Amino acid sequence: MPASSLCDAHNTSAEINYINQDDWVTSGKIGSRDAVLVFRTNILNPKTRKTLKEAKSIQMDLQDQEIKSTSSNMILKQTLSPTVSKSPLSNAALGKTYVSVEKLPICGDQQNQHKKTRNLFSSCDTSVLSDANEKTQYNEKKPKTKQKENDSVVESESDLNKESGYDSVTTSQSNTDSNTSEEDQEVSSEEDNDCGVNMPAHHLQITYKFIQTETKLLRKIFNVHGLTEVQSETDFNLLWTGVHMKLDTLRNLALYQRVNHFPRSYELTRKDRLYKNIERMQHLRGMKHFDIVPQSFILPLESKDLLFAHNKQRGPWIVKPAASSRGRGIFIVNSPDQIPQDEQVLVSKYIVDPLCIDGHKCDLRVYVLVTSFDPLIIYLYEEGIVRLATVRYDRNTDNLWNPCMHLCNYSINKYHSDYIRSSDAQEEDVGHKWTLSALLRHLKLQGCDTHLLMLNIEDLIIKAVLACAQTIISACRMFVPNANNCFELYGFDILIDNTLKPWLLEVNLSPSMGVDSPLDTKVKACLVTDLLTCVGIPAFSPEMRSLYTNKSARRRSSSCQRQVDATETSTTLRSTKSKKKPFGLINLTQEEQRILRSARLQYTRRGGFVRIFPTDDTMQRYGHFLDSANGIPLSTPNVQGQTFQALVTQHNYNQMLYSNLFCQGSRYIQDDNSQENRIKQYERALETDSEIPFLKKQTVEKCEEEGRRLRKQLLKKIGSGSTLTHFQARQTFSLYLESVLRRLTQDPKDSHEKIILKFLNKYGGGVKPPVLFRNTQNISKARSAMVAKLLGDFLENYKRDTEAYVDSFDHFGMIPTSAYSLFLVHAQESDLEAVLTHHTNITGIMPFLYNRCGLSVPSTPPIPSGLYGFLRALPAMVSNSGVSRDVSKYDGYFKSYDKNCENVRDISLRSRSTKDIK
Ligand code: ADP
Repeated sequence: MPASSLCDAHNTSAEINYINQDDWVTSGKIGSRDAVLVFRTNILNPKTRKTLKEAKSIQMDLQDQEIKSTSSNMILKQTLSPTVSKSPLSNAALGKTYVSVEKLPICGDQQNQHKKTRNLFSSCDTSVLSDANEKTQYNEKKPKTKQKENDSVVESESDLNKESGYDSVTTSQSNTDSNTSEEDQEVSSEEDNDCGVNMPAHHLQITYKFIQTETKLLRKIFNVHGLTEVQSETDFNLLWTGVHMKLDTLRNLALYQRVNHFPRSYELTRKDRLYKNIERMQHLRGMKHFDIVPQSFILPLESKDLLFAHNKQRGPWIVKPAASSRGRGIFIVNSPDQIPQDEQVLVSKYIVDPLCIDGHKCDLRVYVLVTSFDPLIIYLYEEGIVRLATVRYDRNTDNLWNPCMHLCNYSINKYHSDYIRSSDAQEEDVGHKWTLSALLRHLKLQGCDTHLLMLNIEDLIIKAVLACAQTIISACRMFVPNANNCFELYGFDILIDNTLKPWLLEVNLSPSMGVDSPLDTKVKACLVTDLLTCVGIPAFSPEMRSLYTNKSARRRSSSCQRQVDATETSTTLRSTKSKKKPFGLINLTQEEQRILRSARLQYTRRGGFVRIFPTDDTMQRYGHFLDSANGIPLSTPNVQGQTFQALVTQHNYNQMLYSNLFCQGSRYIQDDNSQENRIKQYERALETDSEIPFLKKQTVEKCEEEGRRLRKQLLKKIGSGSTLTHFQARQTFSLYLESVLRRLTQDPKDSHEKIILKFLNKYGGGVKPPVLFRNTQNISKARSAMVAKLLGDFLENYKRDTEAYVDSFDHFGMIPTSAYSLFLVHAQESDLEAVLTHHTNITGIMPFLYNRCGLSVPSTPPIPSGLYGFLRALPAMVSNSGVSRDVSKYDGYFKSYDKNCENVRDISLRSRSTKDIK
């Protein structure tokens, strides 16, 4: 039996050795070219923090006694973790134990579940590792062959200005579901930093930077691992952004830097682009290969085609804004004439027979990691999330209005009073959020072919990536200076129909890392830590960094084209010719050796990621979608021998990698990645022996008294002539609407639903993008959810618009920014209401309702005082605003609402019904 499994990234034990840096660095010793940091979930657990503190104090004692640090580490190891003394690399040889799927428990039998064995350093040939490791000890041993500095792939700088700038321009439109998270941002706690100071990342001064992303879980993970947050535009090791990358940032990345996006990822993540790319493949390669998305049309351009399709086969159709996420702006119609013609939308055939669990429609969120587009390396995370609609599914088209029956988004369903959250991380099939593995076990029990389902899901993912890869590869060649700079985690949303065929709905650019339950926390914490280890954050100190940066700069200046030298090209051509034959390292160019080494090392660090491309049968299945000469996935007919080849040298990295990893006679056959093993891994429950604490939403402790005191002062100031700036007024109104929204979800009876609907009807069109008003007449459980969804959508857009009004300096007559911010921190709903009322009644205007300033804002009658009156119905909705927008005539929900007779039923936690699936 192997000793304790340090190799298990999420394994328990407070017996983690924080002092030994070997436990936190892998793929080589610190400073060697391939050395990267290790990330684990177990140090999120406070118990292990305790161990850290003990370890620290023992270490200090030892240092006091002037014992050399090396021996102190040895003693500490023995003191703290006698069983955990193996380095990750030696653990790598331990291999992976698989649990027989046949023995898997029935769904719901949580007690006896076999868990996924989640070794960080999964099974691999020991000789591969030691070989790779030996070759990569940059500082310790000189490389035997000429593979010295070949990590840096030099890009053509002359091509740089060809980019249209779309990446940076489209930031606000990208299909991201994370940068608008509901989770509060959290500053790093002292405890996290305490934990981090002993980690190698801290000593190596490894830094991270966030741009427009939710940060709570990520920040926690970075901080406990010793990474430090920085604001610098350029000086970071890891950049994590919720939006597309600026091209300038990309161009200037150093060898050791990592960013979480590829350029032009929007080809995959914008709904309209994704659909067009796949449609092109349908024409080029045949519908039978790319029948993976519901038939769709982009309006208004393709209105006629839509009508034609509708006449051939009637709706319903689902209408989605081209660049949105989280269910925003989505509605379902029976006929195309109910769709507004003035906005760009994607209209898709509505899948009327979805897979249901206990009668509830569900869809999947799976996590796909691409670490390279050329060669193509795709991983699928072993665990995903299944989202259930709150209201029982009914095919009757009279119910199309009900988002809580037809849309599975958490952001919509959470407002329904019947929404159930699982409160225990071990309960994976409870309530309206399940795990993928729980769903698979559930389906298996019903007699479904889950093996085929997962293979079809893998196939769908690979085909979607192939359809978009060509453009991304050409962008990488133009803008990304080093081969490993970029990685990307995509959130694939997949709907399964009742024949178990998966349909791709969309791909999210920045899948949400927000956590709303212990189960969510577990899945996402494992996902993020595995992702970071797999991708590999180089374990370089600033001195080592400058060494590598200088080298790569030298190389870049000596070559303005991203071309390999003559000898490399000729070797490559030789390699390409002998395609099917097994390769020996000797036949490979430096760049090919680097790619191979990097792919192998990455595979050993993959944790819970399952590599789905390449696998042993990818060339057989997908080889004909790749260019025979350079291995690039082709998605335009004219490309062969024309445009694209002009940019590309005759490498065939896909073929090279495949031959070296899988061909008979290769030293490194990776048969543990077989179909059987992959499917088993998807079906096993996610194991984290040590509990991962649920990061609850942290709300600022408001001090009622302080709020009242500040309010008094403010009212006095306003009374004596000071005014709120447009920004301050909008900030106050945002916070006020947040309180209204909170009350709506907590206590629907006291919620002013009608007033909110009236308000949205009047002002919903005044934000960008507009929030369409859904006219809801009857009282029902789903109505609160609908109203809350609309108000939530409005609030989000309103806050984004508000950023345009920010006060850059304090001017005469305004309430100082600092004083006002303090008030907003402590203000309760009544304080906000009092200030808005007083200000409105004195100035005679409500500037916060308009996207304009000063005199052009129409005057308003006074607001009658009184608590919780949604500002006393905004003085009869200020009559002459001009932003009103009657969309009810287009509204699919409008017509059928009266007929609503929803049948809401709690999901029974364990009962299973076959009829839903058959
Ligand atoms: P968003 O990015 O706004 O979440 P999605 O495309 O993921 O948009 O769709 C939101 C929800 O709508 C999904 O959860 C799914 O349940 C439902 N949905 C989307 N497209 C279809 C379709 N073609 N047929 C049936 N349901 C769909």
